[in-house]
Amino acid sequence: MITATAKGMVKMTPNEYMQATDKHLVHTYNRFPVALDRGEGVYLYDTDGKKYLDFAAGIAVCGLGYGNQELNTALKEQIDKLMHSSNLYYNTTCGRAADALKRVSGMDRVFFTNSGTEAIEGALKAARKYAWKKQTGRYAYIAMEDSFHGRSMGALSVTEHEAYRTPFEPLIPGVSFAKFNDLDSVKRLVTDETCAIILEPLQGEGGINTAAPEFMEGIRKLCDEEGILMICDEIQCGMARTGEMFACQSYGVKPDILVMAKAIGSGVPVGAFAMTEQVAEYSLAPGDHGTTYGGNPFACAAVAKTIEIFEREDMKAHVKEVGAYLEKRLDELAESFDMVLERRGRGLIQGLRLDRPVGGTINQALEEGLLIISARSDVIRLVPPLVIGKEHVDEMIGVLRKVLGDGSEINADSRN
Ligand SMILES: *Cc1c(COP(=O)(O)O)cnc(C)c1O
Repeated sequence: MITATAKGMVKMTPNEYMQATDKHLVHTYNRFPVALDRGEGVYLYDTDGKKYLDFAAGIAVCGLGYGNQELNTALKEQIDKLMHSSNLYYNTTCGRAADALKRVSGMDRVFFTNSGTEAIEGALKAARKYAWKKQTGRYAYIAMEDSFHGRSMGALSVTEHEAYRTPFEPLIPGVSFAKFNDLDSVKRLVTDETCAIILEPLQGEGGINTAAPEFMEGIRKLCDEEGILMICDEIQCGMARTGEMFACQSYGVKPDILVMAKAIGSGVPVGAFAMTEQVAEYSLAPGDHGTTYGGNPFACAAVAKTIEIFEREDMKAHVKEVGAYLEKRLDELAESFDMVLERRGRGLIQGLRLDRPVGGTINQALEEGLLIISARSDVIRLVPPLVIGKEHVDEMIGVLRKVLGDGSEINADSRN
């Protein structure tokens, strides 16, 4: 039933919110049956006031959790000053945000976008332009199996997931896929036409797969020897989630192009790709690339404030500490349940591979007030706000033990 509140706002029941949404939108998402209303700290509340411990963070976005007053105040002040002005003019926050991203990434030049996918598009174009300007005749990309880089035609072309790709073929030509963590399989694909190798140092959507040090170092060396650009997609694993600001830093590997999004804006839609000065010299020039919104004053205020807080609060150290605790608790859990085959990941991006599809477990967790998500069909993905404490890890483990316990009973019954 629709009721008018004192403020004249229309308040609906959860079902009405869901129906109103499903009726109007293109049906591209099978959403969980929850209408979220507000957040506080690391908890979310639905329209009935039910509380959820959040181990999804809006898919690895809300590093600072919800209701961070310092961030919110900075955003509100920027809204009152200037929200948007286009890239025809300078503004007061863009340079500050770019400087902060350079400082934490070690890269030299930044281009702001509105999403991760767009940042990948830009990175792919930047690599092509570099090869074109150098007159190398190179244009092809090597990407990895189980990769995820986004849903636009370019990003999809380097994404190895058949179900995502097939209905949209033909995609852009010149892309081949190597086996993640198999350097020889990459080498076999290198030709005189290869302009870039793109990979996630820690694959998120593909199942929480961590690159081996030899693999990351080997790709860097291969790229140097062959004159190929190395593109690291750190849209999901970047921004302190692994305990380093960017995962590639833990390998001592610096890519030629680094792609970022998700957590850099703490929930404000923003992405970026950054390159070394050496690449920038030959790459995108005036007229080559652009965006109306990208790097607007509001989005950049979010990036600048996010990084300011991360640095001041030493988010890396916090993630290392809580991440180590999370790993320990997950390892214990994996030990005690046969259905948990493996723990994967690093810091606050962790996966639990089960011997079955994880959908049932995730739905049960939701019932119990815990938000978790999947990575592929058989991995539970844990990407909580970076500000979680050990007490939240304990709370999550308690719920997971309960729902996995229910699951293993069902399993034991069905086996008998
Ligand atoms: C989420 C994600 C993307 C796409 O970002 P969007 O903001 O959804 O466009 C690309 N690469 C990786 C690794 C991601 O996790």
